[in-house]
Amino acid sequence: MREYDVVIIGAGLGGLECASILGRHGLKVAVLEKHFQLGGCLQSFRRSGALFDAGFHYVGGLDEGRPLHRLFKYFGLLDLPWVKLDSDCSDEIVLNGKSYPLAGDHQRFVEQLSKMFPTQTDNLKKYNEALSYVGEHIFDALRPESAAGFFQNEAFSSSAWEFLERTIADPVLRNVLSGSSLKLELKKETLPFYVFAQINNSFIEGSYRLQGGGETLVNRLVKNVETMGVEVFTKSEVSRLEVAEGRIIAAHTTDGGVFAADHFISNIHPAASISLLGEDSGVRKAYRNRIMRLENTYGMFTVNIKLKPNTLPYLNKNIFIYTTDDVWQANKTAFETNTPVIDSLMVSFPPSQSGFAEVVDLLTPMPFSLVEKWSGTNVGRRDAEYEKIKEEWSEACICMAEKQMPGLRLAIDRVYTSTPLTYLNYTGTSQGTAYGIRKDFNNTMLTFLPPKTPVANYYLTGQNLNLHGILGTSMSSFITCSAILGFEKATEGLL
Ligand SMILES: Cc1cc2nc3c(=O)[nH]c(=O)nc-3n(C[C@H](O)[C@H](O)[C@H](O)COP(=O)(O)OP(=O)(O)OC[C@H]3O[C@@H](n4cnc5c(N)ncnc54)[C@H](O)[C@@H]3O)c2cc1C
Repeated sequence: MREYDVVIIGAGLGGLECASILGRHGLKVAVLEKHFQLGGCLQSFRRSGALFDAGFHYVGGLDEGRPLHRLFKYFGLLDLPWVKLDSDCSDEIVLNGKSYPLAGDHQRFVEQLSKMFPTQTDNLKKYNEALSYVGEHIFDALRPESAAGFFQNEAFSSSAWEFLERTIADPVLRNVLSGSSLKLELKKETLPFYVFAQINNSFIEGSYRLQGGGETLVNRLVKNVETMGVEVFTKSEVSRLEVAEGRIIAAHTTDGGVFAADHFISNIHPAASISLLGEDSGVRKAYRNRIMRLENTYGMFTVNIKLKPNTLPYLNKNIFIYTTDDVWQANKTAFETNTPVIDSLMVSFPPSQSGFAEVVDLLTPMPFSLVEKWSGTNVGRRDAEYEKIKEEWSEACICMAEKQMPGLRLAIDRVYTSTPLTYLNYTGTSQGTAYGIRKDFNNTMLTFLPPKTPVANYYLTGQNLNLHGILGTSMSSFITCSAILGFEKATEGLL
């Protein structure tokens, strides 16, 4: 049996960042990762010599003075080869064939859209101010004096859609402002203004891609934590947590490993985290059921395309394409009928220095129910029916992208696809959800989970807590470590 101060389950961004915060305070930390590769949704992979990213494509809020800049400075990630996207148009929104730019700078953001919607200038300023305000207060979630009432704040308990309807009179502009929101899940009935504002605001405050993809970030984090003495184990799937007298005493892995510690942090989905506890853990049935019933945001279907050399120009922006009059209802038919009638698509390019793109990624939401029946089967060994679904969805995505990028089809060398089931297999995320549990402004107490669980020395971290994405997960790492180290110590060097 090995002994530690803290054992962390899962080496996604959240697990590795918690290891970094705790490691620098001299705690003896072990990170247990079930996969042979580290990073979870930040994994990169190679096919036919090309590098692809499983999930992560770009980050927001990395301009100096902005929240992610501060967080990445703390984690020693600022000197990685970040590539800033076009400040005048980091995200291009295409609505039924017409293009609109979303700038990566607050002033330019309002100026650019005012030119296209001259009657909406004042409304755009109000929108911009409201988002900036929420963004400026992101670190309030950490401060004990404000954190106590933080989740009662109106930004959490109010609707994103109602804010848009109230603030922006022009329905087309509402669509444009929501257009880069394939980075969250637009759902009128549940999406809190806080999530909409934090995510969208961050991408107005400096959007960046990373040369070498997610793997570059993961490798740096692992190198940094190992320097602190943290031990990182791959192929170490935690299968159960042993409890005695209301506390976890050890994590057991499928290969027979036993890891004892004073504290245990779970970087995996809350439902999976609770499933690791047996009936003897003292966790009440009501809590267990509540966590098990939490709904997930959608998963993604991804088409990773390796291009023939020097065929398609590299674009230093993302393109979000819609063929619907209501962005908030995008892919409704696909979800209702389980058919590839897609009407929303994200197009992203990993950085390239040659002027030509080497790779292009196409992403669209996909219902998990479509692929669920293959859950018990292995990647690469699924039947012809599964392959046919992937082919049909891939074709629908390429057709949609081709209209915006003529020449795309001729430029294709190889195509690789993944469904939410692929994400489930590689990252263990429940139902292959892209952004974790669905936050609900009607039910903030239940959907914005705290890091503490009913088991005294068991904590949650990662995208399922406060906010998803790279920014949200990084925030959660500090929220979780504050519960163990105390606020002052955990945020030393950050605030
Ligand atoms: C398709 C897609 C695109 C995205 N694009 C972006 C983007 O462009 N920008 C952005 O900011 N965010 C993006 N995100 C979201 C972002 O990647 C995630 O919010 C973030 O990486 C989540 O990190 P995490 O640490 O919470 O969890 P995860 O990355 O899910 O890590 C959990 C880890 O736990 C491991 N694990 C699971 N079960 C066990 C077990 N029993 N024992 C041991 N280990 C276990 C898993 O293998 C995994 O490594 C995207 C996500 C997806 C899916």
